[in-house]
Amino acid sequence: MMSFPPSLTRPARAVAVAALSGALCVGALGATTATAAAADPVAGARTSGDSLFPNVGNGGYDVQHYDLDIAWTPGAPVASASTIVATAKISATAAAPLSEFSLDFEGLTVDSITVDGAPATWERDIDAATTKYKLVVTPAEPVEGDFTAVVAYSGSPVAHIDPDGSREGWIAGDDGATAVNEPVGAMTWYPVNNSLKDKAKYDIKLTIPRLMDGESMAAASNGSLHSKTRNGALETWHWKQPNQMVPYLSMVSIGKYEVRESVIELESGTYRDWTFLDAAMTSSQRTTTLASLAQTQDIMRWMESKFGPYPGVATGAVVDRINVGYALETQDRSFYQNSVSKGTLIHEIAHQWFGNAVSPSDWSDLWLNEGMGDYAPRAYNYDTGATTTSPETSYYNSWNASAPTAGQWQVPLAGFTDPAILFDYVYGRGGMTFETLRTIVGDASWFEILRTWVAENNGSDASTADFVALANRISGTDVTPVLNPWLYGTAKPAWASKWNLSVASDSAGPLAPGDTVAHTLTAQNTGKVAIAGQTVTVDVADLVDDARLGTLPAELANLGGKLRWTIPATAAGQTATVTFPATVKEAASGGTVGISASTSALGSSCVTCSASTAIADQADAWTLGLSADPLPGAVDAGDEITYTVSARNTAVHALLGATAEIDLADVLDDASVVSLGAGLELDGTTLRWSVPRVASGQTARAEFTVEVESESGATLKVSAAPATAGGSGEPTLTHTVGLKPLSPAPVPVVSGTGRVGTVLTARAGTWPSGTALAFQWSVGGKVVPGATGATYRLTPRDVGRVVTVAVTGTKSGWAPVTKVSAPLKVAPGLLTRKPQPFHVGLPKVGRTLKVKAGTWDSGVKLSYRWYRGSKAIKGATKTSYKLKKADAGQRIRVKVTATKPGYATVVKYTPRTSRVLR
Ligand SMILES: [Zn+2]
Repeated sequence: MMSFPPSLTRPARAVAVAALSGALCVGALGATTATAAAADPVAGARTSGDSLFPNVGNGGYDVQHYDLDIAWTPGAPVASASTIVATAKISATAAAPLSEFSLDFEGLTVDSITVDGAPATWERDIDAATTKYKLVVTPAEPVEGDFTAVVAYSGSPVAHIDPDGSREGWIAGDDGATAVNEPVGAMTWYPVNNSLKDKAKYDIKLTIPRLMDGESMAAASNGSLHSKTRNGALETWHWKQPNQMVPYLSMVSIGKYEVRESVIELESGTYRDWTFLDAAMTSSQRTTTLASLAQTQDIMRWMESKFGPYPGVATGAVVDRINVGYALETQDRSFYQNSVSKGTLIHEIAHQWFGNAVSPSDWSDLWLNEGMGDYAPRAYNYDTGATTTSPETSYYNSWNASAPTAGQWQVPLAGFTDPAILFDYVYGRGGMTFETLRTIVGDASWFEILRTWVAENNGSDASTADFVALANRISGTDVTPVLNPWLYGTAKPAWASKWNLSVASDSAGPLAPGDTVAHTLTAQNTGKVAIAGQTVTVDVADLVDDARLGTLPAELANLGGKLRWTIPATAAGQTATVTFPATVKEAASGGTVGISASTSALGSSCVTCSASTAIADQADAWTLGLSADPLPGAVDAGDEITYTVSARNTAVHALLGATAEIDLADVLDDASVVSLGAGLELDGTTLRWSVPRVASGQTARAEFTVEVESESGATLKVSAAPATAGGSGEPTLTHTVGLKPLSPAPVPVVSGTGRVGTVLTARAGTWPSGTALAFQWSVGGKVVPGATGATYRLTPRDVGRVVTVAVTGTKSGWAPVTKVSAPLKVAPGLLTRKPQPFHVGLPKVGRTLKVKAGTWDSGVKLSYRWYRGSKAIKGATKTSYKLKKADAGQRIRVKVTATKPGYATVVKYTPRTSRVLR
């Protein structure tokens, strides 16, 4: 419904009603039958339990169909003094036997009533002060199950005056009459179960004069025009409503109308449009009306896209110049007073989904109708560019401008009890409440809630509690903390906040060990009011397994595996962020550093809820090793050999998942496994080693033991090889079983002087024939590389050390034997050339003497010292010397010292000179 100035100040009304009184009737009857025998007929309740209109509506039965046949006769001399002669055939179902049942019926005269063809008696139980207009019918026999009541009635219908003073029901006009019935006016023109919870199908036949004052007359109603039948000066318009319809949405309008027929093409199908334009409209009203109605198809298409398929059977408008005071969303074909504005058109069409298809369960749920009636024009005009003001901004501005003392905040939106304020606050506050829900659940859930609401409740009724439950179900959150103050509060509610959460990493990856990666959480306030104190939970399990968290900012709390961000105060349109660093662990390889954020705060939307950065795969590097106790060599039957396989991790990161394979094919034919260490598994002749986690630089080991079973000859060869990437080394070990050492195996003897520069010769002695001999010389206990012959030349560096030679004899069928010679200490070498030095020159003061040393071995270094008598002459160490006065009368000679590394030093003196002359 939409109210019209300048008539009564009643706001627009919506639609709604419920059907399926079946469940209700059972309940109402149940209370009565509980104290009576189950089969005893009872009186139907004279209420349907509405909280605002407790005396309207009836219990005990469920109307399936109304067949109304109304003949209207204009009054004379004024048409408004009109009369009707009518019958109402009501098909209903009683869930339990009824001895009597009531209908709502105000005014008019009941002429007769039959029930299932038998005359019934009736009485009228009326108390206008409490809106009680009962037509109580007592059938000849109690009714049960399906029954039909036919009420014949006549008279001049009159309007019903509502608690708020407005008129509804049958309203006479200058050229006919119009019946619009929200909330309870239907009872002024037909007997009805006037309940929101008893929807039914309708046939409405209106018989009227074809002409009045020479002008064409028409009769509009709901649904589709089934037929138009002439009978002399009269014409019967037969309208069919095949869908469930609540009585308050039934409608009649009789008058001098121009009838326009067209079709509307929608996504869900093609619908016929019957529109009635009052012939008395001014040209201005007509122009406005036609411009608005031309948009009907576009508006309905938009609504189908938002609300789901059109729920009606036909469409159209009835535009009447009559003083009703409002427009009303009468089902399929809305009623408009005087003209149709675009806003009212959108409002009433929206009601076809919200109110008509789904009706409120109680009149205190009316906001479900009018809130959407208020919301839809704002949304449509914004979506189509007719306005740049969004519903959100529009409603926020309204909220912001509304004082806390305003009347709309003083009573609950849903659940109020005064019928006089039925239409006072359900529009604006209802729309704001819908906008609040949209704010806190986001657009996707919002539109799904609307579509589901219509789809699940089409043809029936539903309550505010049902709507909240659906909103909770669709959104997956409890919306009541925010929505309840809007629905049930008696103080101005807070405007809901709205914000977007996103997370980001500063690295595109891949990351390497030691890299630092920073994650940023962002809360963008997209709403109208500040946010503060909302919390975001950040799951960092996928971060801390491969990285170390850095120092956290104060607003981030570490809860162990999770962080909690408390958002600081952030004004509308502003953004809050927090960043925290982490460093990739040295051992990290592959995998990801990731976080995911979530919040349960109403009004939040996760735009990007997680970030994940790949860690580069670090190449594994490891070395496979193998050793045995006893060392490789000869073993005997019954011996145990314990092998140790090892994996040394040479990479910077931990080694994970490495495996190696050890081939035991050449072992198991001569030995059996005694024990297997952890991680070793024998598969046939292959021993598989699942290497445990090995830290960088560390070595993992595993042992296994075999017992030798063969008596002789065989070899036990073990081969190991890496089976996963990065491994190196393919070690093998061989033991031999039961071989005797070679014999005789004499100790070798070394011959030679043992001095540097001479050659030593190994005498191997006599070994068995066919023995291959190998030599290895060692000096000072260390093997001399390449010294593998039978002879060895001693070098200067060997001086003072001991020399040995090892002789190894090998022969097929025998265990090799190695014998080592007795040690020989190496002596210095002897120089071979050591000539006698002499000097030349006249021994006289002032003359120079020179020494002649002769030719020595190569590599020899010579040094000189001149002597005067037996005393060395200071500073005289060269090959020449100039005689001084002090030398007069003395004998002079020279000491020559020959040195060579590894050789014994040789000293020689020149002969003395004769006494030096003055
Ligand atoms: Zn409305």
